[in-house]
Amino acid sequence: MDHRVYGVETEFGLTHRPETGRGLPPDELARYLFRPVVEFGRSSNIFIPNGSRLYLDVGSHPEYATAECDDLIDLIASDRAGERVMHDLAVEAEERIHRDGFTGQVYVLKNNVDSAGNSYGSHENYLIPRTTHFRRLSGILLPFLVTRQIISGAGRVVPAEDSREAHFAFSQRADHMWEGISSATTRSRPIINTRDEPHADAANHRRLHVIVGDSNMSTATSLLRYGSTDLVLRMIEAGVPIEDFELENPIAAIRAISHDITGRAGVRTRNGEQVTAVQIQRGIFQRVSRFISEHGAHHEHVDQILELWERALEAVESGDHSLIDQDIDWAIKKRLVEDVSNQRGLGMDHPRLEQIDMAYHDVNPDRGLFHLLVRRGRATDFVTDEQVTRAMTTPPPTRAAIRGEFLSTARVYGAECTVDWVHHKLTDRPLEAIMVKDPFAQHDERIESLLDRLGDRKNHLRERSLHERIQQGVTLALTDKYSLAPGTVVPEPPLI
Ligand code: ATP
Ligand code: MG
Ligand code: MG
Repeated sequence: MDHRVYGVETEFGLTHRPETGRGLPPDELARYLFRPVVEFGRSSNIFIPNGSRLYLDVGSHPEYATAECDDLIDLIASDRAGERVMHDLAVEAEERIHRDGFTGQVYVLKNNVDSAGNSYGSHENYLIPRTTHFRRLSGILLPFLVTRQIISGAGRVVPAEDSREAHFAFSQRADHMWEGISSATTRSRPIINTRDEPHADAANHRRLHVIVGDSNMSTATSLLRYGSTDLVLRMIEAGVPIEDFELENPIAAIRAISHDITGRAGVRTRNGEQVTAVQIQRGIFQRVSRFISEHGAHHEHVDQILELWERALEAVESGDHSLIDQDIDWAIKKRLVEDVSNQRGLGMDHPRLEQIDMAYHDVNPDRGLFHLLVRRGRATDFVTDEQVTRAMTTPPPTRAAIRGEFLSTARVYGAECTVDWVHHKLTDRPLEAIMVKDPFAQHDERIESLLDRLGDRKNHLRERSLHERIQQGVTLALTDKYSLAPGTVVPEPPLI
């Protein structure tokens, strides 16, 4: 597909560190965090005016699922906007916790493992044509995804365990994957999830659900991660033959690769060959580069993605990680950890280094170490503050724009509504539930006319300004930083 819809779901880690003693248990902390969400939406599962979904699933890991985006920078900005929403909620939660007599700070971490060894995910969604042959797709995509950690892993300080020494690994998530392909997500943690829920016209499309990635702090790394995957998909969709790297045991391979930062861990293909992660990535990269030189770039970020990809492979291959230590999460973090350990004379097994690893993922823009490195010019950032602030309140130009308009207009008129990725329904007009199956659609006449019946939207000044304020987004509304005229607005009931 030349034109694709993407979405990313991020589950966050949550911790409370009081001045003394133990922090609040995870479920109680999650309730504090989500209290404004529940007050705002009467549910812990809501869609917000930027078109994204905010929810607390089983377990205590709050999740933000970006709106559908058809541009990678929009996607990355929406994902960062989710970090900001979580941060705003954490600030509010901390205030409430203090009012209730507790001390300490609340940390929201965009990582994939907590100190107790639990793992939580960062799931990618790619719209693909239904005609894509799934067996062929997985044959090419699995080895790509197993090795993608060397170009987009978040990096991890791995403590000593049994006979294993403390060391630095490419990935946080690799040790927590159990299967190549399956329809389950939590029980068996597959790399690709095959559950068939396209959130689109099922006759023509599938939604490819990739469960394997690490959450990224660096937007350059995110661009490479989603951009390279899109390029590989595009080549698969075009039916281009590609070297067979199918692995004998993808799960053994993903772990072995993660724990060898030289990128030289040998893994076996089904043909019995011994190959390294760098060789597989190089093979795919070369094929993709050739494909692009023959067919042309399909979006404006392609050159940048190819440049980053090649540089990352060069860095791993040569061992000169300084080539990417401002752009790729694992290398940025590795440099930080090495700097601290050199300055303070700490061995790799020192617990302080694990703390640095965690602090890298702190979404607090003032406190988080990734953000600190950006401010010091030691890490690149591909989205501006303005883009992120805008993405917190404004949906991207896809079906999300229809959803955002629907939610905020219904709110202006005090009309209860429910939405999900496809459906739009006013509670008191259940017969007029409207499905928008095309994720690229930015406008829908049926929804326009349904909303028009709520009132004179276009000319009513007071309502327009209220509408704009609601579009200004959920964080403002959630944190009571603005209040709506009493009686004007009825919150949505539980959504989905
Ligand atoms: P759950 O995570 O609750 O198991 P789910 O996999 O449907 O359910 P959500 O958390 O609801 O996931 O997130 C869905 C993600 O898919 C969002 O990021 C959204 O933007 C994206 N998305 C929606 N429609 C499409 C589509 N047609 N193609 C690709 N991505 C889509
Ligand atoms: Mg989800
Ligand atoms: Mg999901």
